[in-house]
Amino acid sequence: MLPKRTLMGPGPSDVSREVLEAMSQPTIGHLDPAFVGFMDELNELLRLAFQTKNPITLPISAPGSAGMECCFVNLLEPGDEVVIAVNGVFGGRMVEVARRCGATPIAVEFDWGTPVEPDKMEDALKAHPDAVAMAFVHSETSTGARSDAEILCALAKKYDCLSIVDAVTSLGGIELRVDDWGIDAIYSGSQKCLSAPPGLSPVSFGEQAMAKLKQRSTPPQSWFLDMNLLTGYWGGGAKRAYHHTAPVNALYALHAALEILKREGVENAWKRHADNHQLLRAELESIGLDFIVAEEYRLPQLNSVSIPDGIDDAEVRSHLLNEFNLEIGAGLGPLAGKIWRIGLMGASSTPEHVALCVSALKSAGVSR
Ligand SMILES: *Cc1c(COP(=O)(O)O)cnc(C)c1O
Repeated sequence: MLPKRTLMGPGPSDVSREVLEAMSQPTIGHLDPAFVGFMDELNELLRLAFQTKNPITLPISAPGSAGMECCFVNLLEPGDEVVIAVNGVFGGRMVEVARRCGATPIAVEFDWGTPVEPDKMEDALKAHPDAVAMAFVHSETSTGARSDAEILCALAKKYDCLSIVDAVTSLGGIELRVDDWGIDAIYSGSQKCLSAPPGLSPVSFGEQAMAKLKQRSTPPQSWFLDMNLLTGYWGGGAKRAYHHTAPVNALYALHAALEILKREGVENAWKRHADNHQLLRAELESIGLDFIVAEEYRLPQLNSVSIPDGIDDAEVRSHLLNEFNLEIGAGLGPLAGKIWRIGLMGASSTPEHVALCVSALKSAGVSR
């Protein structure tokens, strides 16, 4: 038996009883006529979450990193230049993924904890007029910084580049409007602000992205992530063709999690995340913890604070886990040992979570 934890790290977040129960429905075949209607409904719920009408909106049968690979491997051909913003771990991962597609990534670096600066991205786009795409992370979960996706996507358009957006931690947590902001390709994950179990990556491709895919001179290197083949299964209606065995129970869970989001209202969910962040912020500041990200760029769902001098990172996190069954996140890369990342994602964004976390930190000796 595994312990029951309260999840306040960078994902996964708490999964509700309702979602777990949906997951335990009987497994049926992935081509069962009864499953076809379910799949259409799931894709419609994803369109609501993404705020898009894109017909090509579906979950990849693998975690967020597979959504990232899916966007790059379909939209980039060997030799293509792609301008990528790097302001944390996940921008760095994009560069590596693009390189492995045979593309030429042009990395534009920013200090960790700061947002992607549009001016610097524009300089890179001007310097690389042949670039076919521009990619960035909307919510950098490694630092807690939010970038302005609307401005960055408008910039990509101005320079005739497709925009590829990492919204793994954004979806369901902060404002995100795929159609209004002109996002060409976007991917997310099931286990962050949607609060479904890990293992699925919702993606959405717009018209321009699908046009680029159709114009390719070589098929995408990945058979599994080839969007042309995936749409034969997901978009095939009654004629849908076997591609791979979809993880049906995981899809039940995602469907239930999206129903919860729909019931709450997407904008209400954004507001709840913002409100609980303000609660947590006041409490953390009262015990002497400082945020590493400037106020206007902070993510409400991922709160990064500096570990005060004289406090042992690992000791505090073990105390929280052992005494409170509470998980918070450690720092990654250059921020390891320097920060904690406190997630208020999806079902983990409640006043009760805030109260538990603060009393656990106090119990571990974190106080002014
Ligand atoms: C979690 C995360 C990923 C990777 O998702 P996995 O499900 O761990 O593969 C990618 N980008 C961001 C911003 C993330 O927070």
